[in-house]
Amino acid sequence: MPNYSFRCAEGCAFDAMYSMSEVPRQTACTKCGATATRAITAPHLSAAGSSAYGLLERSSRSAHDPQTVDRLPARGAASRQPVTRNPLHAKLPKP
Ligand SMILES: [Zn+2]
Repeated sequence: MPNYSFRCAEGCAFDAMYSMSEVPRQTACTKCGATATRAITAPHLSAAGSSAYGLLERSSRSAHDPQTVDRLPARGAASRQPVTRNPLHAKLPKP
């Protein structure tokens, strides 16, 4: 449901959620009880929290602060832990 902004004559401003078909033009102020009218505001569009925003955030962070490797993994550590547990993969040729 969209979040609508209301402002009363006393100057209080608050947000309330209504469905688009049920949003009133006026409602009671949640702070002082006076009649509050719906205020025209910019839409609250945000991509924060989406997977696309996370990708953009990681991409921009890697441009300024790339992840670096400061040491090699321990020799033989990769051979001790298999990458896959599928027995069919054991028959594949080793590099
Ligand atoms: Zn008020």
